[in-house]
Amino acid sequence: MTEEFLPFSRPSISREAIDEVVACLESGWITTGPRVKKFEEDLKRYFGAPHALALSSATAGLHLALAALELKPGDEVITTPMTFAATLNTIVLAGGKPVLVDVEADTYNLDVSRLAKAITKRTRAIVPVHFAGLPVDLDPLYELARQHGLRVIEDAAHAIGTEYKGRRIGAFGDTQVFSFHPNKNMTTGEGGCVVTRDDKLAEKIALLRFHGMDREAWNRFGKAGSQHYEIITPGFKYNMMDIQAALGLHQLPALDGFIQRRTELARRYQKILADWPQWTRPGTPKYAHRHAWHLYTPLINPAAADMDRDAFMQGMKERNIGTGLHYRAVHLYPYYREHYGFKPGDFPNAESIGSRIVSLPLFPAMRDADQDRVVAAMAALFGRKP
Ligand SMILES: *Cc1c(COP(=O)(O)O)cnc(C)c1O
Repeated sequence: MTEEFLPFSRPSISREAIDEVVACLESGWITTGPRVKKFEEDLKRYFGAPHALALSSATAGLHLALAALELKPGDEVITTPMTFAATLNTIVLAGGKPVLVDVEADTYNLDVSRLAKAITKRTRAIVPVHFAGLPVDLDPLYELARQHGLRVIEDAAHAIGTEYKGRRIGAFGDTQVFSFHPNKNMTTGEGGCVVTRDDKLAEKIALLRFHGMDREAWNRFGKAGSQHYEIITPGFKYNMMDIQAALGLHQLPALDGFIQRRTELARRYQKILADWPQWTRPGTPKYAHRHAWHLYTPLINPAAADMDRDAFMQGMKERNIGTGLHYRAVHLYPYYREHYGFKPGDFPNAESIGSRIVSLPLFPAMRDADQDRVVAAMAALFGRKP
């Protein structure tokens, strides 16, 4: 193979972003400071939200939003088995019991029509995941949450730029957590943020993200201007650095262009694969939405393809093309089986998806010729004309 390796994802970092990182390094202030502050202002404007708190990752954001609930043993948090492990891990780390609701077979999103049955007296929150950047059906979800007095923490790691019925995810509802990991739609290296319309929650997260340290509290006791702080509660170390925000300041204005290119490529995949029996393409819901196309994830049909998902991924790798696995159903990991008694058959849609799903290469700098290479390699693997 002479062609260079085509990864399934690659971030697009502009010259301006690189210069900003260098300027930050040379400024003498590299941890949380003026660039994080500016980035948070930009995020608030982008979302039209009163609070956007920059953090070291989305995992940190989920952990803090859940920790702020101060869960008691036995308290339940409802989420989906078709997600990255961090969604469930943080529920457990915050002291909650993860309760799962199966996903829709075609959108891979939490099936909101099954949600009511999962709500008990112990339920405290719902954590929907906007899979691949496709919005969950939020109207009925929020209606149920309102009826039962539940917090909604949207795992929006895939969903910056996603819209539901004409409204941007992060612009309405309760609380959203976004990821700026390099594979996501925009990046700060590692990083994430929590967006909320709840003043008290924002205050709590601001405290918890940096040791539980409060400078204002000292000032409130009448010693303004001093270097002292008070520890209000034992907190975490989840702050974002200015080096990271330097990237974010230039990624956010580029985001819309990134999503446009992702959308073109995803639509082209959808069109090309329409008559391939080897694939079942991702479906779309009936309600109005804008898909952010963080991932393009068809399901392999092993009988028609004459190979399973893992053999397909290996075959593509041998042809110098990277693919991704997002995700195996989380309830089947050993920890979740052993601690919560989950077993195969519990969530059939998530299990079927989790055993057949593949992320094909998709990133803003990908050229049509790169995509043609992916299609040609798949055709060769399956023994069909591209
Ligand atoms: C990436 C991801 C996370 C975690 O994001 P990090 O910023 O890497 O911590 C959480 N949930 C989902 C669904 C993700 O894809």
